[in-house]
Amino acid sequence: MEDTVTAAIRRYEQRRNCRFRFDALLSDMDGVLYDSMKYHAAAWAATMQGEGIECTSDEFYMHEGRTGKATINIYYRRDKGRDADDEETARIYAEKARRFVAFGKADLMPGAQKLMLHIKEAGVKTVLVTGSGQRSLLDKIEADYPGIFTPETMVTAFDVKKGKPDAEPYLMGLKKGGVASNNAAVLENAPLGVEAGVAAGIFTIAVNTGPLPDAALVEAGADLVFPDMASLYRQIDKIITYNR
Ligand code: CA
Repeated sequence: MEDTVTAAIRRYEQRRNCRFRFDALLSDMDGVLYDSMKYHAAAWAATMQGEGIECTSDEFYMHEGRTGKATINIYYRRDKGRDADDEETARIYAEKARRFVAFGKADLMPGAQKLMLHIKEAGVKTVLVTGSGQRSLLDKIEADYPGIFTPETMVTAFDVKKGKPDAEPYLMGLKKGGVASNNAAVLENAPLGVEAGVAAGIFTIAVNTGPLPDAALVEAGADLVFPDMASLYRQIDKIITYNR
């Protein structure tokens, strides 16, 4: 009998009528490489509450992956019936970023460095695909993941127009990695990010590092769902060696 990982790849190949090979990893950042979502959620909630907008920090896990601008507009449309203008967007995002930095922490996701290093050493390219425009983390990533993520292989909030859940950031990630959609895998932790990976036609792996149920990731279309990085690490060679 086929193991879960191999069976998931075969289902992907049948669905897309293609042959899968893992030549590039397109990885999300927050909630995957950094255990940072709790700080983002709290910073967003405090910032929006400061704008007189009612919300709770838990709500922001459902928006995870969107650009700051798109997140702000969801609340502006709901409460004010219009989009935020450029000045409001810049001011609110700066305040959110300030509050995030004030937490003073960017905890690495346990097991993430080990997994990335193993993937890189296996000859798989690594590309960062994030909706974040948080300079404090983007500048730090080269130090925390040396040789794995460089400015040339990053797609950030500064590169995209639409952002997740649109396929755009992952399509851009494929281009940066120089690979076709069937020769890559997406690594995500959030439903909207999974939707974006699937929309780009890429085999999408979810690691459920947050408070949402696994079902939210399965419903978004994830090909595989793992509870943590260590569990994915134990299975990653099956993905690396598939069709090699
Ligand atoms: Ca994420």
